[in-house]
Amino acid sequence: MDIDKKIKLNNGVLMPQFGLGVYQAKQGDETVNSVLWALQAGYRHIDTAKIYGNESDVGLAVEQSGISRKEIFITTKLWNSDHGFDSTLRAFEGSLKRLRLDYLDLYLIHWPQENVRKDTWKAFEKLYAEKKVKAIGVSNYTIKHLQELISYCDVVPAVNQVEFNPFLYQKELLDFCESKGIRLEAYSPIARGEKLNDERLVMLAAKYDKTPAQIMLRWALQHDIIIIPKSSHKERIEENSAIFDFEISDDDMESMDTFNENFRTCWDPSNVK
Ligand code: NDP
Repeated sequence: MDIDKKIKLNNGVLMPQFGLGVYQAKQGDETVNSVLWALQAGYRHIDTAKIYGNESDVGLAVEQSGISRKEIFITTKLWNSDHGFDSTLRAFEGSLKRLRLDYLDLYLIHWPQENVRKDTWKAFEKLYAEKKVKAIGVSNYTIKHLQELISYCDVVPAVNQVEFNPFLYQKELLDFCESKGIRLEAYSPIARGEKLNDERLVMLAAKYDKTPAQIMLRWALQHDIIIIPKSSHKERIEENSAIFDFEISDDDMESMDTFNENFRTCWDPSNVK
């Protein structure tokens, strides 16, 4: 396994399992530099969203990097206020323009907004049929949201991006997604740094001569999860990618599987109808 490892999505598209998230990376130099440092470190997958306000900076960095567009996998997301058929098509064009792209790799519904999400998915299917986007998916969907979507969709989502890490090990959701051919992608894979002092993690980090963040990221990789850790610091961007030269043992993986405490750093979609 290395930083180039790709996951084959349910439509055959290859998606790098490891990428950079840019939520809360500030507009301008902070985002541009983060993306450039990541690309220099070998990342080939960037995750942004309209609501992050930094799509233009991602686009600029990709252009400045000199790396061929085809080699970089770019995801963005439809924001809640843009749901609905026509407004989704408009929002997509806006994102594409800000990203300076003529096609997108992955477009996600950011949140399962009530009442309108079916029309939105139909617009996603249109964008996909027109080959403006290589793959379409969702984010923050629970099992019941996915079941509803599967009941009417023509295209099954390729990806469900949710909060996921050892302290929020959503095993049931992971198993459900696997059974439907939907790849699970973990946001907040290092729990926004809030669990880095957990004693068990610190001990594992010492054992493998890695950092607690690297142990959390490697755990997800070994569960075949797609991960997009965020950092705006060059040394952390590099640290987070140095996870392909060691392996967590089966015993330690099993032990980490028991860390779950339903710990959330972000929003909880469980009660969205
Ligand atoms: P992460 O788990 O990736 O943690 C990011 C935080 O941890 C930042 O504060 C960062 O600080 C810090 N950090 C990063 N690396 C290290 C390290 N090696 N050691 C110590 N601290 C570190 O959380 P995110 O919530 O940002 O999730 C990742 C990505 O997932 C987002 O950027 C976004 O792309 C996506 N996301 C999607 C959501 C959705 O609803 N679909 C919701 C939330 C996130 P610093 O930058 O200062 O280094």
